[in-house]
Amino acid sequence: MQAEPQAFDRVLSSMCTEPHPVARDAAERFLATNPGDPGTYPTVTALEDEAIAMLGEIAGLDDPTGYVASGGTEANLQAVRIARERADTTTPNVVMPESAHFSFQKAADVLGVDLRIVPTDADHRVDLEAVRTCVDAETALVVGVAGTTEYGRVDPIPELGRVAREVDAMLHVDAAWGGFVLPFTDHEWNFSHAPVDTMAIDPHKMGQAAVPAGGLLVRSADLLDELAVDTPYLESTAQATLTGTRSGAGVASAVAAMAELWPTGYRTQYVRSQNNAEWLADALEKRGYEVVEPTLPLVAADVPRSTFDALRDRGWRISRTGTGELRIVCMPHVSREMLASFVADLDRLEVRASVPVVCDD
Ligand SMILES: *Cc1c(COP(=O)(O)O)cnc(C)c1O
Repeated sequence: MQAEPQAFDRVLSSMCTEPHPVARDAAERFLATNPGDPGTYPTVTALEDEAIAMLGEIAGLDDPTGYVASGGTEANLQAVRIARERADTTTPNVVMPESAHFSFQKAADVLGVDLRIVPTDADHRVDLEAVRTCVDAETALVVGVAGTTEYGRVDPIPELGRVAREVDAMLHVDAAWGGFVLPFTDHEWNFSHAPVDTMAIDPHKMGQAAVPAGGLLVRSADLLDELAVDTPYLESTAQATLTGTRSGAGVASAVAAMAELWPTGYRTQYVRSQNNAEWLADALEKRGYEVVEPTLPLVAADVPRSTFDALRDRGWRISRTGTGELRIVCMPHVSREMLASFVADLDRLEVRASVPVVCDD
């Protein structure tokens, strides 16, 4: 029997979602293309230029340069690589908050740079004072996260930019997840708000494109040149991507999704997701759980391990933060009905007799 992929009706932990129908269609049509070989696959190569132009618009960057990567992991790794190449030292370090994605650990391992991890404050944003004391003349890169994986927090990007400039380091913003919701908020996170050099922004998360479609944006073309290697047997002469052969499906679906949804569709989606997150946070608070307020559509709550396990046993795809809180990402496929049904299951499991249920409205 042919295997079927999972349904999304109980998926509350993923940062990916069902591709928009136009994105799915474009992915299927461009399955047999390889933007890694532009001389042979010019149509998808032209689409990639369109993808970068649109990502630039979303991220406040005029004349954008970059490429559609396999995901945030590759974009983060390549940003660290650019900074390492630019650094005027043989022992470069990267300064980032503890809230940064684990992909930086991979980047540090592969690239042989020293990772300096600084703490976050009570609101889960990077502790600026700690960054100031941590950077030095060998700091190649300062990383800020615009939409953290665990709590959806946005680091103070303009301030991080100032600290980076003081030590002549580059500034990378990881907006892999947040990049498609932040334009509709008043956060300062993008190239027009701060001296951002490089950015990760993934169409395959909130952008509703098919996997794999990540994005690496760089402020100027010379930064991408740091990654370029010669490609002797291809008609094109140089390649900046980490992968060689790569998916044209991701590129085409990213363009289709952005052409369809930017900006109105994404704004509508953001409002809906954010309202859902606030509704869920409220529902959990009323039941006595400690909730980390959702500044972006992501809710974390201190639900006991036994309850968490019981919810998983009921089929809910949920995950936990590093410190054990239940974590729910309000992606486009997460509807109010799904959340209501989740909370109803939680009520059925409610065995925390010692915690009063607050009913104030
Ligand atoms: C998901 C995520 C990544 C990793 O992206 P992949 O597409 O899974 O490689 C990096 N940074 C942040 C903030 C993320 O949310």
